[in-house]
Amino acid sequence: MTRPDRDRRFVARSDAQRAAVDGARLDAMVSRGAAASLPSSWEPDDLVELPSLRPITARECSHRGAQCLRRPAAEALLTMLAAMRADGVAGSIHSTFRSYDVQCMVFRNWAYDDGRGFCRAATGSALPGHSQHQLGTTLDLLSVAWKAQDRGLSADFGCSPAGRWIAAHAEAYGFVLPYPLHADYRERGESCGVAVHGAMDPRTGYAYEPWHLRYLSPALVRDFADARARSSAAGSAELTVDQWLRQRAGRVDDADLPVCDGCACGACSTLEGSDAAGSPCARDEMLVVDADGRPVIAQPAATVTILRATARRARERVVIEATLSVAPGTVTQTPVAQRDEVRFEEGEDSARWAPRERAAPRAFRDLVGAVRFAVSAEETGPQERFAHRIGITSGHAAAAFNGAVVYLPAPSGSRRVRLSIATRASRVRVALWADGRAISPSEIPVEER
Ligand SMILES: [Zn+2]
Repeated sequence: MTRPDRDRRFVARSDAQRAAVDGARLDAMVSRGAAASLPSSWEPDDLVELPSLRPITARECSHRGAQCLRRPAAEALLTMLAAMRADGVAGSIHSTFRSYDVQCMVFRNWAYDDGRGFCRAATGSALPGHSQHQLGTTLDLLSVAWKAQDRGLSADFGCSPAGRWIAAHAEAYGFVLPYPLHADYRERGESCGVAVHGAMDPRTGYAYEPWHLRYLSPALVRDFADARARSSAAGSAELTVDQWLRQRAGRVDDADLPVCDGCACGACSTLEGSDAAGSPCARDEMLVVDADGRPVIAQPAATVTILRATARRARERVVIEATLSVAPGTVTQTPVAQRDEVRFEEGEDSARWAPRERAAPRAFRDLVGAVRFAVSAEETGPQERFAHRIGITSGHAAAAFNGAVVYLPAPSGSRRVRLSIATRASRVRVALWADGRAISPSEIPVEER
């Protein structure tokens, strides 16, 4: 995976080789993030073959192409499959434990044999070490009927009888769906319908996978379900398993950026030092993280300067534009502009903003150490909130993460940011915003045309 392609290197060496996740834990955090990776040598030692429950080594399982899971997961699965059958749905196991080496092969098939290229493979498949299938607790489950139709892993499986059964009952057996359908992509309240096929969920880095099941244990699933219910009651978008595991580990952001893989990422994470040479991504697109996946943050207040800011009236709105000087290593966060401007409609600000049409608005809570550009059209005073805060980056790849609260790298050098707000104010105040406070605020008049 680290060998150079004709044009560019793929995957920084540190990201491929420094793996810290303990795969033996049922709650191991395995995701696309640079630090959320299993060592290549890690394999479960309590695998059993399905459906016999006969003990089998990881090596033998891979060699024979058998279907294997860790014993607690396998036993729970057999119980669940029996219950499915009793309800008239015959489940069909598609894929179970995959060793690091097998995942390498799967990825290579995507990347080379199918001619899809590394970048597409990195979107559709997990890099070796980053697959939950290596845990031995994860499987892809379809149904006999679905397979008979030769339909494979496609999102509308979620609306099939088996997909609906899994969504409704799997948790009772200790399984969760780590890659659920993001609320923004649901059609008219449907919990299975897919409006946007293949759209990446910023909370997980994966598209909707209604067949991908991970065993946590009934006790952990109960804790997760409680936390999810609390988060829905508090008005935030439904908590994913990955987000819950992050919260338990003391992480305050919603998701990891994917490991730097050399593709036109726009935003990625890496364990390589910021001064490391030969990284596969542009330096400015890399968020440098530590072994726990936390971003390495420079002194936030010292890294950005407002060089110039203007405000002008445009019908019922005010457009604020600023040129900033950004030091290398600056960390920012969502929301960011997809193209050139973040638009706040009436009643919207960073505590309530919808990242796309028909999406539910969400709060872009402060992430420690993240710097944003902020505007206030309110009365000056101690309660002044600088309520309109935007990240110091833009572009499609970075904006794909607007559906969650995520750290992003801020490209260094001279940057322009632009936002527009619905206000009649004749003066606004601009500032940088970090760690809950405005830095060097200044007032600018709104130019009337
Ligand atoms: Zn899977």
